[in-house]
Amino acid sequence: MNLFVATTNPGKLRDFSATASPQITLTPLPSLNQIPAPAEDEPTFEGNARLKAIFYSRHAPGEIVIADDSGLEVDALHGAPGVRSARYADDHHFNDPANATTDERNNLYLLSNLTGIPLTERSARYHCVLAAARNGHILAIGHGAVEGEILPAPRGTEGFGYDPLFYLPAQNKTMAELDLTTKLTFSHRGRAFAAILDALSAEL
Ligand code: IMP
Repeated sequence: MNLFVATTNPGKLRDFSATASPQITLTPLPSLNQIPAPAEDEPTFEGNARLKAIFYSRHAPGEIVIADDSGLEVDALHGAPGVRSARYADDHHFNDPANATTDERNNLYLLSNLTGIPLTERSARYHCVLAAARNGHILAIGHGAVEGEILPAPRGTEGFGYDPLFYLPAQNKTMAELDLTTKLTFSHRGRAFAAILDALSAEL
């Protein structure tokens, strides 16, 4: 079965490509860059995943298109950055330093908001929702989450986004210190992917 993935995020594409198997191939949706992206204005991960899957599946008639929405929820920040994870620093006009990447600015802004919060109160989770649609109709939904803690300083060079700050006590490593295959075995995206494959196999 081939599934088209509607994302241009290189970190997510790398995560998805590590899940490929003889039964399932995952291909970036052709010409995604030329399709004007829909506004991701739903208040939940599932709402955004659904609207993207419905929208992009209309651009690939007859094919199954998978879209995801994901992000980080920090308990001490009442669930922020949540659905705004990709745009956390931009939303708050946090532009310092000017030459930093978006991921670096998001991480610096997160750390600045957690200043003074002790390690014991920095619990957080990554949450991912995947939606699969064909011809504008939802076929299946998959949820996945992974619990961790936000470190006061980054560690590791793998992964993307908040991975250098996201610490997994059971592994004694951050997500950015794990290789891709290990990350996928228990990450929010890996778990959501396993869940949506189950739901899809029941559906097809
Ligand atoms: P969106 O799903 O495209 O709205 O973006 C989700 C954002 O959440 C990403 O840009 C990252 O900042 C963050 N995020 C989601 N999944 C991961 C992950 O596996 N590692 C690190 N950051 C992530």
